[in-house]
Amino acid sequence: MPSIFSRIIAGEIPCYKVAEDEKNFAFLDINPLAPGHTLVVPKTETDYIFDLSEEDYTSLQLFARRVAKAVEKACPCKRIATAVIGLEVPHAHIHLVPINSEGDLDFKRAKLQLPAEEMSAVAAKIASNIE
Ligand code: 5GP
Repeated sequence: MPSIFSRIIAGEIPCYKVAEDEKNFAFLDINPLAPGHTLVVPKTETDYIFDLSEEDYTSLQLFARRVAKAVEKACPCKRIATAVIGLEVPHAHIHLVPINSEGDLDFKRAKLQLPAEEMSAVAAKIASNIE
């Protein structure tokens, strides 16, 4: 059975997409730690990020860097933090989270539930800053 992220990439489940290239896809986390919290995933479904081929892993990280720079422009913050957890969805992904302090990356914190209009606006702003 395809992962929820494969179904998002296939367009079967809606998402707030921010970018894609040949091998990778980026969209907003549905329950963000901060506005602009983005997930970057390889289109090929692999559970564990360190099981990706060298080529796919490198491609994912370079794509994540491109997306992170756009998130930073769209969502002013001190840094874009990255995290790889993968305990919930078995499809490798990198979290990109705008932060101003260490505590902003605490995944135990209550997640945000932003209105659809705000999610759409943030996604569009990030997408417009992709270089
Ligand atoms: P992890 O696997 O890294 O522990 O967490 C998975 C992340 O994916 C969570 O932050 C969760 O909010 C996000 N997530 C889970 N299901 C969906 C979904 O259907 N759509 C989106 N956009 N994000 C999801």
